[in-house]
Amino acid sequence: MDAKTRDDLLGLFQSKLNEAMHFYLETCTRCGVCTEACHVHASMGQVRYIAAYRHEIIRRLYKKHFKARGKVWPSVGESKELTEMALDELYEAAYSCTGCRRCMMYCPFGIDTQMLMSIAKLLLIGANAEPETLTMLADMSIEKGKSIDIFKEGFINGLKRLEDEVVAKWRQEAGEAVIPVDVEGADLLYVALAGAHSIIPAAAIFNAAGEKWTLSFFEAVNFGAFVGDPTRTKLILDRIVNEALRLKVKEVCICECGTAFRVMKQLSGKHPFTVSSITDVHARYLKEGRIRLDKTKFNVPITYHDPCQIARNGGVIDAPRYILKQLTDDFRELAPEPAYNWCCGGGGGLVALGEDTLDFRMKSSRVKVDQVRGTGATILTTACENCHTQLSNLRDHYKMEVDVTFLSSMVADALVPA
Ligand code: SF4
Ligand code: SF4
Repeated sequence: MDAKTRDDLLGLFQSKLNEAMHFYLETCTRCGVCTEACHVHASMGQVRYIAAYRHEIIRRLYKKHFKARGKVWPSVGESKELTEMALDELYEAAYSCTGCRRCMMYCPFGIDTQMLMSIAKLLLIGANAEPETLTMLADMSIEKGKSIDIFKEGFINGLKRLEDEVVAKWRQEAGEAVIPVDVEGADLLYVALAGAHSIIPAAAIFNAAGEKWTLSFFEAVNFGAFVGDPTRTKLILDRIVNEALRLKVKEVCICECGTAFRVMKQLSGKHPFTVSSITDVHARYLKEGRIRLDKTKFNVPITYHDPCQIARNGGVIDAPRYILKQLTDDFRELAPEPAYNWCCGGGGGLVALGEDTLDFRMKSSRVKVDQVRGTGATILTTACENCHTQLSNLRDHYKMEVDVTFLSSMVADALVPA
C-alpha cells in the first residue's frame, strides 16, 4: 500500500474516532464474556468469530496509528500496521458480522461491535475493497432519487396491476384509491420494499383501518447502511425524508425491513413527522379497534423471530406479541427472551450478497435452526425481508418443517370486519 493511500485511509479512520469509539477502543478487558454471544462463533466455533477478536484487529491498528506507544515502539503493545493484509482481515471481520449487537448485550462495558465494524467497512470503501454489489445497489437507489419523474408513470401503472389483489384481501369502498400515491396532506407515508409482497398486504390493512395513507415512490432498503457508507446512507435516507416533508405527512411508516427502520428512526434527525415500524402501526390499529383478526385462520403453533434491528436495536418488542395474541392461541416464544434472540445470520448486507454468502450464512446460523426447532412451531413468522430470506434459506438447507411468513401477510390474510 502506498503512503498516500494509507494516509487517506487513516484520515477515514480518524473521522470515526468520536468519544464513544474511543471508549470502545480503550475499554475491552478481554474478559471473554462475549465469546458465546455471537451466533457465528456459537455455530462454527472458530476464534476469529468471537466479537472481541473482531475488535482486536481495529484496536491494534488504532494503537499503531493513533496512540503514542504504538507509534514509538511498533513491536510493543500489540499494534498493527495498516497494510493490504490488514485490509483482508478487516474484510473477514466486518463481512462475517451481521451487526446484530447481541454481543453488546453481554459485554459488561456495552462495547458496540457494529460501531467498531463501521470503521472496518469505511476503510474498505476507501480502499475500493468493499463488496461492489452493495455500492452498486446503493448508487442505483440514489440515482432513482435524482430522476423520480422518469419512473413515476411506470411505477403508478405497476401499482394498478396490484389493485385486484389488494381488494381481494379487503374490499374497497367505491371511489377510494386502492393504492394511493403522492397524496399531499395524507396522515401516513408508507415506505415499502420493491415487490408486490411488501405492498399488497400493507395496502389491504391500511384500507381496512381507514387510514389516510400514501405510498412512497421510493423503496425503504438502505444499501448505503449495509456497506457502511455514511454519505450514501444519508442520500438514500434523504429521498424519503424530502418526500415526507413535501407531502406534509404526520407519520412515516417503514415496511418490514429492519435496517431501513433503524436508519430512519435513529439517523434521520428531528422532523415534523414520527417514524414507526409497520408492526407498531398494525398493533395500534388492533388496540384502537380499527382492524380485527380471525383467530381461527392459522390453527397451528406459531413462533416469531425478532429482527435484530427492529427488536434489540429498535425497541419494537411488545407490538408483534400483541398482534400474535390476536392471531393465535398457540404462540410459542423462542428462547432466550427477545432482547437476547439469536440473529438469523442474514444481516449486515450478507443476504443482499446472495449466493456469494449462502454457504457461510448456512454454517454460521446453526444455532438459529436449533432455537426454532425447540419451539415445535410450524409457522415461523418475522417482520424483516432480510430475515425472511435468510430463514427461508435455513429452512431449505436444514429441512426444517416450518412455513416462513411475513407477520404483515398473516395480519392481512386474517382480516375480518371490525
Ligand atoms: S454484532 Fe452480532 S454478528 Fe457481530 S460479533 Fe456481535 S454477535 Fe456476532
Ligand atoms: S465482553 Fe466486552 S470487555 Fe469482555 S472481551 Fe468481550 S468486548 Fe471485551
